[in-house]
Amino acid sequence: MTSRLDRLRGALEEAGADAILIGFRPNVRYLCGFSGSSAALHVARDAATLFTDSRYTLQAQDEVGGAAVETVTGPPAIAAVKSARGVSRVGFEAEHLSVAAWESLSAAASGAKLVPTRGLVERLRVVKEPAEIGMIEASVQLNSRAFDNAVPGMRAGVAESEVASTIERLMRELGADGTAFESIVASGPRGALPHARASSRRMRAGEPVVVDIGAMVEGYASDMTRTVFVGEPGEVGRRVHAAVLAGVLRAEATVRAGVSTAEVDAAARAAIAEAGLGEHAYRHGTGHGVGLEVHEAPHVGRGASVILAAGMVLTIEPGVYVPEWGGVRIEDVVLVEETGCRVLTGTPREILTV
Ligand code: ZN
Ligand code: ZN
Repeated sequence: MTSRLDRLRGALEEAGADAILIGFRPNVRYLCGFSGSSAALHVARDAATLFTDSRYTLQAQDEVGGAAVETVTGPPAIAAVKSARGVSRVGFEAEHLSVAAWESLSAAASGAKLVPTRGLVERLRVVKEPAEIGMIEASVQLNSRAFDNAVPGMRAGVAESEVASTIERLMRELGADGTAFESIVASGPRGALPHARASSRRMRAGEPVVVDIGAMVEGYASDMTRTVFVGEPGEVGRRVHAAVLAGVLRAEATVRAGVSTAEVDAAARAAIAEAGLGEHAYRHGTGHGVGLEVHEAPHVGRGASVILAAGMVLTIEPGVYVPEWGGVRIEDVVLVEETGCRVLTGTPREILTV
């Protein structure tokens, strides 16, 4: 934990701050290990202190490394900013603080100047340490097992929401902390909506069902999509599935250190266009980072491009969405390596029928 805090300290000067106040939960957890909900971490040049309330005293003593723990009454962030005596410029996480919270902090920060910062800790989190990769792999594997165990229950007449609740129960039984996001189970035409939640709709024979699920394990997220066909996929189903799989494989073959996220995005789209399905290709991004959050940097899409580095963990998730028919999406989690990528998701990507 100390090396993470030291890397953050190394970024303070450029951010124009002498110390920083961290309140965003994934960042607090990353920097000092604390997983509770009420905390503010004050990081100065020579010391760090986690402020929390009495509900979390024992948990904090158990979890926190590299920082002192102080139990306070009232908002931990206020106590933290008041503790920053002698510090003239205190950084805060501009992307994670409401205007109201900022007003309270300003009032409490007598004399010190509050300096907005953006993405300081998020940038440290982009390249994963070996221990983090191990936890992401555990999350990915658990997610796959929940999916494998739920597939036999998928058949015509079963509601999307039944499949989703089975998957979520299985995740907990397998040891997950919970889900990483609200499960997507989208059958037939609903599969053409990339972010459809599981509804009461019952799946029908011949339909594709997009299943997009993620678990949280030891604080780390997983994220996987597979498209299951209820009975015979038909010519359209086979063609769409083949095109999406070609997009996944082309993107994964492109991923390695030194390549830009724009190149990975373009590779997936080119494969789908070559398969003649460009007009129905996905409008969402090709992928995103995964770690303490299910969606984190880097974004893999048409926007700002980032050069990949070994140790980054990304999803690759192209899709094809045909209005009124439905959609096919395939999503893996991959680890960026110097010479290529390692696909962490073990669930087969071939067409799957039930
Ligand atoms: Zn997903
Ligand atoms: Zn995703």
